[in-house]
Amino acid sequence: MNTIGYLGSATLALGCAAYAAIASAKRFERIFPAPANDVPGTHGGAAAARLPHGVSMTAMALRQGLPELPQRMRALPLDSRGYPVPVFAQRDSGVPDYRRCDSEKLAACVYYKRCCVCGEPVGQYKAFMIDALSAVTRTSLLPPAHIECAKFVAKACPVIEQRVGVSLVWVTRAYEALQHESGLIFRMAEAEQTCWYINGRRANRDEVRSSFEDSLPALYDAAHAKSEAAVFELDTMVARATRYFPAHSAAAFR
Ligand SMILES: [Zn+2]
Repeated sequence: MNTIGYLGSATLALGCAAYAAIASAKRFERIFPAPANDVPGTHGGAAAARLPHGVSMTAMALRQGLPELPQRMRALPLDSRGYPVPVFAQRDSGVPDYRRCDSEKLAACVYYKRCCVCGEPVGQYKAFMIDALSAVTRTSLLPPAHIECAKFVAKACPVIEQRVGVSLVWVTRAYEALQHESGLIFRMAEAEQTCWYINGRRANRDEVRSSFEDSLPALYDAAHAKSEAAVFELDTMVARATRYFPAHSAAAFR
């Protein structure tokens, strides 16, 4: 499909997928409420509440040991442990569950072109937070975020969820939203930058390769069960994904 066709179908898919949720969402303010410390008339809101050295009052209760919080995430509410609660997190009786996504908020993020972590508008570069397996399939369950917000989540997730394996921040300019039986999924265009993380730091090539190989058997089992052509296609997708591995084993840095 040519570029115009791709963009056209992506726009159509985004519009259709988000429409139903937006119709029920009704009000922008309910999806993206003003920060708790941004109440009009109370000392000038979040900007005035920011301390002289750039740390907001909200961040004062931030849990120790987290990576540096991006500026855009400083107005997010904190949970009872001091972790910032991203927009996409599902809440059960007000308690956030980071492993589950609020589908209404995800659709609103797509429709309003907002970061699914901080809720602020995203620019031309979109960053997806995915795992090694998703680098092969080029799909994400979360819509895009700002690059710095995505990097924070990739670094902080092992701390918050005790997650093992590598995380990947996939930076691209284009994507399309597809309606899947389990909800929206997002197909990412070619990456212009990739950053791999493990245990809250940048991962080196050996760590990425090891985590990558761990996730492959399940993919190949599914492809073998489907057809010979599916296996051939998967071979191509795997080879394509390996192009985004870190260049050298010694290249692990922040
Ligand atoms: Zn953001």
